Amino acid sequence: MFLFLKGLVCLDVPHILDSMNRMNSISSMKHLPKIEKVETFIVSIPRDTPYLGALGPGEKINAKGYLVRQGNGTIYPTTDRSVLIKITAEDGTVGWGETYGIIAPKAVTSIIDDVLGPELVGREASDPVVIQEDLYNLMRVRGCFGGFYVDAIAGVDIAVWDLFGKLVGMPVVKLLGGQRQSRIPAYVSGLPGGSLEQRLEVARSFMAKGFDAFKYHSVVSFDGIVREMRVLREGLGPDVSLMVDLHWKFTAQEAIQLIEQLMPYRPYFVEAPCQPEDIEGQAHVGALIKVPLALGEEWRTVYEYRPRMERRAMSIVQPEMGHIGPSQFMQIGRMANAFHMKVIPHASIGVGIYQAASLHAAAALPNCPMHEYQHSVFDRNLQHVVTGMRCEAGAFVLPEGPGLGIEPAESLWQFVCSKNSD
Ligand SMILES: [Mg+2]
Repeated sequence: MFLFLKGLVCLDVPHILDSMNRMNSISSMKHLPKIEKVETFIVSIPRDTPYLGALGPGEKINAKGYLVRQGNGTIYPTTDRSVLIKITAEDGTVGWGETYGIIAPKAVTSIIDDVLGPELVGREASDPVVIQEDLYNLMRVRGCFGGFYVDAIAGVDIAVWDLFGKLVGMPVVKLLGGQRQSRIPAYVSGLPGGSLEQRLEVARSFMAKGFDAFKYHSVVSFDGIVREMRVLREGLGPDVSLMVDLHWKFTAQEAIQLIEQLMPYRPYFVEAPCQPEDIEGQAHVGALIKVPLALGEEWRTVYEYRPRMERRAMSIVQPEMGHIGPSQFMQIGRMANAFHMKVIPHASIGVGIYQAASLHAAAALPNCPMHEYQHSVFDRNLQHVVTGMRCEAGAFVLPEGPGLGIEPAESLWQFVCSKNSD
């Protein structure tokens, strides 16, 4: 419909009405429902075989259900444990987050219930980065710029992004700057098996399903790290990518010597050879080996990444969404791009919500060639979430939004633990 007015001005009325509607909807978006409630849940899903495989020599389960891997002295749970965060807006819309709850999960839920949650009430989910920065500021001068405190912020940050996406009807990847990929190549992480032959068979079974990249964990390389890579290379052929996680076990010189022995088997990358605090050692290894060094799953902010990047300690960074949240993930990923480093995200134990957030963030980056696939956790826990996310034929399929495109399934609630119990 056109209206002709004095002076030959022609007005397209439907177009004007459409524009007014759009402006009204933009105006209403300025007043998204505010955050009204923040809740936390600890879940513990039993497993027959602990993460990284059966108990090794000298390993036992303690009274709290933890075991210490003798290969690296690190404590692990014997169940799949996680912390979920539920943020509810005034209109009832819910955002879901998840963070590390594998060890002492009540440390994280207490921080959220007591400190972060009350600060979130009344805030707008359309300010996720601002909220993340504000929560980080609350405790930074007390030295809480890592560990459980930042894990708690990460889980909240994931939930705020999910809520923001749902309130505006957009997938999180679009809100993070735009979507480059809908499928992200996956590498198979961990080859559980009692013998080298069994581990090779696990890798072959994934090859048959379309996977062509494999990482083994040196902490359970009971037959030797170099021997395991030789057996995998000879057994899987020249075309697969092989990686090894060295689990922070070596001094710089030991690592350089070991990695030299791996060279005939052409690793795609080697991961975490030196202890987390040893910045100079990491840089020394990175400078002297002839294979990409991958680091970063334990670092939580750009402040921890920056000094390593400046020393060019690695050429691949491995941010862990469960420790950092999308707001930091994107800063780290884009800073890595400025240093011409690749991002191959870490993926650890969870029910799948922070894995989904990691895929959204990875899909928005220009420098992410693949993502870790913790098949022994990811596949079994998919039954407890409602999502289109999956890993098949060598790649993750991104969940579709709005938000993250993942919700806890009814079956997950049977595994929720009381926060008052031991
Ligand atoms: Mg690792």
